[in-house]
Amino acid sequence: MRIYVDIDDVLCETAATLCGLAEREFGRHVKYLDVRQFDLQKVFSLDGSEMARFRELSHSAHALASYPVTQGAVAGVRALVAAGHQVDAVTGRPASSHRGTEAWLETAGFGDLPVTYVDKYGRAGCFGQNPDDPPTVSMDELGERRYDAAIDDSPLALDRLADWRSTRVFVFDRPWNADYALAPNMVRASGWRQIVDAFARQAEYCNIEVKLCNVHGSAEMVSY
Ligand SMILES: [Mg+2]
Repeated sequence: MRIYVDIDDVLCETAATLCGLAEREFGRHVKYLDVRQFDLQKVFSLDGSEMARFRELSHSAHALASYPVTQGAVAGVRALVAAGHQVDAVTGRPASSHRGTEAWLETAGFGDLPVTYVDKYGRAGCFGQNPDDPPTVSMDELGERRYDAAIDDSPLALDRLADWRSTRVFVFDRPWNADYALAPNMVRASGWRQIVDAFARQAEYCNIEVKLCNVHGSAEMVSY
């Protein structure tokens, strides 16, 4: 299977880190569990110029290096790769953050994952660009890859993933998606353990299906 794995708040604890940044740099006191929406400008009550500065700081290589790894993420990704899946890191971060992003992935133990920068939120044009930045692809272009599964936490990204009917989407539990109404192709995941178990169960079902088809003939439909 080809699997899309988001970075922020799936592989690393971004929002919790940004709560600290907002407090240090802007004097905004918001607890992680009170981040109930995805619009951080509203969450931290930042005006336009503060938000521009906040984005710049949060995407600096120095800040990115400080993001803690999400519990179970390294073992989870390793388990998926070991099971033969192709895992791609897919992020809505600006492509200009690629050095910091890829340095963090390497240090955290995800250095083997290819990274794709995607305009998940329709704001890629707001970010500064450098000549050596990797390309940023649209969600439509990303959809052409026909991922078998996707793991994301952002309601805005999930709205787009709802249209990927043949992709199984894992909604990574976070306070800001707690009230998100799941589309038919979505399931919730409380953490990496649950995700790895779901893939293992699916592999088990596939093995059962193959064995039953071998016994009864490949044309016979098998249900379980
Ligand atoms: Mg995310």
